[in-house]
Amino acid sequence: MALQTTLDEIAAELAPRLGEGKVADYIPELAKVDPRKFGMAVVTLDGETAATGEALEPFSIQSVSKVFTLALALGRVGDGLWSRVGREPSGSAFNSIVQLEYEKGVPRNPLINAGAIVVADVLLAGRQPREAIGEILRFMRFLADDEDIVIDRDVAKSETETGFRNRALANFMRGFGNLVHAPDLALGVYFHQCAIAMSCVQLARAGLFLADGGRDPVTGRNVVSRERARRIAALMMTCGHYDGSGDFAFRVGLPGKSGVGGGILAAAPGRGALAVWSPALNAKGNSLVGSLAMELFVRKTGWSVF
Ligand code: GLN
Repeated sequence: MALQTTLDEIAAELAPRLGEGKVADYIPELAKVDPRKFGMAVVTLDGETAATGEALEPFSIQSVSKVFTLALALGRVGDGLWSRVGREPSGSAFNSIVQLEYEKGVPRNPLINAGAIVVADVLLAGRQPREAIGEILRFMRFLADDEDIVIDRDVAKSETETGFRNRALANFMRGFGNLVHAPDLALGVYFHQCAIAMSCVQLARAGLFLADGGRDPVTGRNVVSRERARRIAALMMTCGHYDGSGDFAFRVGLPGKSGVGGGILAAAPGRGALAVWSPALNAKGNSLVGSLAMELFVRKTGWSVF
């Protein structure tokens, strides 16, 4: 069946469920988003794009950005990253602080908030926050092959004003010597990367290299090495949905990364990348209808790694 038909079927099947769940309201600017929005896009390795619903409307990518900053930080410090961040699933919420104390300020993995703040700290080395943020944004534009991608300043400001838990995580890690820069500088980078706004089509396109062993199949350019792409995908599979990662692997079986803006990016090796957006979240902070959409997609296409 054509991918377009598959996506349209999914949109129709899930229409009655739109709005189920709860939008992230701890970031006031995200609380304003209509919970019934829905978009989904697939980009195949040969560059074919299929999209349904509001797949061209930009949304706040939030934690989906962590995959891309991880790729950048590994490019910067390579395996040196692993002395500062672990590689195990956390089994706890994305903004949990309790594990950090037991594990002496070393976050379990780079896809929870604490880990991503360390990654942001790595990207700050030798740069001003503005430069580090610019570098991340340029990377997203390069990967998505789209210069129109911007940071939503209102979302960044909203989270800067209310991100007390993240501030606590950053201060805590700084106390253990696991942040090199002032917590506010690392958080500045982190809040702005989370506030990047992208559509499903742009996000799927940006993630395509993860489905082709680190190479952008459309341009033929190598983004990361094959081994690095495999490792990033492994982290997405085991940690990309926080304490809901096991369930996502069980139901979908693709390396994926969610964000509290309601987006999910998933890579299907050898096939393509998919992105979905539905702002209302489940209890673990992952898009409720978005997860269902991914599950339906895999059921209809067989695009799972299992
Ligand atoms: N910016 C959000 C936060 O730090 C990202 C969390 C997420 O998307 N899971 O809380």
